[in-house]
Amino acid sequence: KYHKTNEIDRSERATTENVMDPRTRMILYKLVNSGMLREVNGCVSTGKEANVYYAVRGDGSDAAVKVYKTSILVFKDREQYVAGEFRFQRYCKSNPRKMVRTWAEKEARNLGRLANVGIRAPRVVILRQHVLVMEFIGVDGWPAPRLKEVKFPSTTSMDRCYLELCVTVRIMFQSCKLVHGDLSEYNLLFHEGHLVVIDVSQSVEHEHPQAIAFLRRDIVNVNAFFRGRGHQHLFTLQDLYSFITVVDDGDLLRPLSTREQLTEYLVAMREEREQAGVYGPVDIEQAKIDEQVFMRIEVPRSLECISDMKAPNAEVRGFVEGLLAVPEAKDPEPSEVAPAKPKRIVADAESGSEDDDDEEGEE
Ligand code: ADP
Ligand code: MG
Repeated sequence: KYHKTNEIDRSERATTENVMDPRTRMILYKLVNSGMLREVNGCVSTGKEANVYYAVRGDGSDAAVKVYKTSILVFKDREQYVAGEFRFQRYCKSNPRKMVRTWAEKEARNLGRLANVGIRAPRVVILRQHVLVMEFIGVDGWPAPRLKEVKFPSTTSMDRCYLELCVTVRIMFQSCKLVHGDLSEYNLLFHEGHLVVIDVSQSVEHEHPQAIAFLRRDIVNVNAFFRGRGHQHLFTLQDLYSFITVVDDGDLLRPLSTREQLTEYLVAMREEREQAGVYGPVDIEQAKIDEQVFMRIEVPRSLECISDMKAPNAEVRGFVEGLLAVPEAKDPEPSEVAPAKPKRIVADAESGSEDDDDEEGEE
């Protein structure tokens, strides 16, 4: 029988008690003691899976401290992101503490990948088990607004932001080989006139079996947000999908195209489409249906699948070709994969004691 009250009690307890459990306090205490942090104060955000705190570093600069919650309930539905993840075979669902360490580690690695290719994202300062210290995005201790809270002064500035986001998703896919997986107006900060990507613990390799499904959802979220803001010149979901996944369509769409080239490509494509009458005024009801269809469409994995389709018209063909440009998912045979220990982003002084609590349950 489903005990609703009981479940609420449990999650309530997780929020109020579990966050600053003795282990977390000890990790923060050590960080302060070592001079890495001067102080940790002020909760920036309390979420389902993590809390974010404001901290001051030893050198006086500010930092964000993301503390993952060890609640079992919360992490159950995240399994889909790790199942089939080559990098995280070590993922252990029976031990919640190990699990949250995996998420923190994943977030740190993914943030590193973004920063490596010049995508705006918080720099990782240090990772200690389930506590991730990173660059604070904001001014004077005030976190930058999320995209949701941004009021665009003009349609031009809104469009600039839209284009920047489309280009960012492509670079993330092509250069970082990552799909965000939870891209929305909540996980993008607006800082110094640009978008900053956050919350990438669930991001997956583009070869992950679900990567394309996640990418399609991300794309729908992006368009739905700007549609809601009254943006009148959105790309179709198919065009956006092709733009993100296709390589080498002319000079501008190469794997290492610059932001400027990619933006130029998008603007030119839109002009062409609008002149050809392919893009018309936004019909909100139709757009909503399109989004639902787009998320559900079956992705052909090979050419044989398409030959079954009856004479696709040019647009469908272009879309399907776009889908095929995505490398096939190479599902590793689980038995063949050595349970490699993922490399740490930062040396963990306590790594020796890492597995000391394997057998313990959390609750
Ligand atoms: P959650 O898993 O709870 O969604 P997020 O990483 O999205 O965690 O962070 C939650 C909120 O905390 C964000 O919406 C943002 O307001 C704030 N935040 C997260 N990281 C930073 C950062 N590096 N700098 C400033 N604020 C941040
Ligand atoms: Mg978030």
